[in-house]
Amino acid sequence: MRCRCGKKAVFHSKVYRVTLCDECYPKFYLEIVKRSIKRYNILKKSEKILTCVSGGKDSCAMAYALKELNYDIELFHIDLGIGEYSRESFRSVEELSEVLDLNLNVLKLKDYGFTIEDVERRKVCSACGIAKRYLMNLFARENGFDVIATAHTSEDIVNFFIKNMLSGNIEYISKLRPRIESFDRFVAKAKPLFERTEKENATLVLTLNLPFTQIECPHAPQDVWKEIIYDVELKRRGFKQNFVRAIVKLAENLKLDWKVKHCKICGEISNTDICSFCKLRSTYGVLSNQS
Ligand code: SF4
Ligand code: ZN
Repeated sequence: MRCRCGKKAVFHSKVYRVTLCDECYPKFYLEIVKRSIKRYNILKKSEKILTCVSGGKDSCAMAYALKELNYDIELFHIDLGIGEYSRESFRSVEELSEVLDLNLNVLKLKDYGFTIEDVERRKVCSACGIAKRYLMNLFARENGFDVIATAHTSEDIVNFFIKNMLSGNIEYISKLRPRIESFDRFVAKAKPLFERTEKENATLVLTLNLPFTQIECPHAPQDVWKEIIYDVELKRRGFKQNFVRAIVKLAENLKLDWKVKHCKICGEISNTDICSFCKLRSTYGVLSNQS
């Protein structure tokens, strides 16, 4: 297949009805990210944006796009202490910060008294999510960032939606909007890639030869729902992107109901007297050693 410019194609999409080469694809990618950001008011040029990078392809694509679109960004990475996976992820984000000439901020979970490897196996991903959300919010607020950008893709949003619907967790759906504004001690959150697919992100980073890790986290669960979403996409092209737009419409019509309480230990926002992060610290880390 040939690109419209005549060169050999690297990307073909029936959804966008385009066939593009390695030179035309990055321009197309930037254009569709720019369109999403504008249409859904996801980010502003005046904002200082903390861009979360894990070392994987999606956050690598996000960092590249935001930099190229002239947003004011710095990178942020959390070392979770998951053996070779964390070491390799750190190497990738360090290289990415050099290639893109962006400041890289790093927090080590072990400095807060525990690592993901200390957590019981069946609770690992839940603990990891709690730690990441807590630390990125804390770091962003304490360092004057206006908004935190994460690289959730259309597959992630559809996946979250299905899982939360099935477990009756309807309130969670309201959080699946592309941007949640700041309040109290909560810094605004943005998902500039919510309409993008993993394939689009992978094509970008491979085409531009950007550094990212292909090592998967050893705790990554087998995700049956993601496989089902891919199967449906094969039968019905555009399913993910159409579905994600419908989810966002629904989310924006639901009220975001924050019950603002503050943790009695750290003072951060919490639904309960002690926040989930302090509970983790008291179970696996320093707070337990102090008691
Ligand atoms: Fe954390 Fe690994 Fe689970 Fe992802 S798969 S949430 S990085 S422990
Ligand atoms: Zn707390």
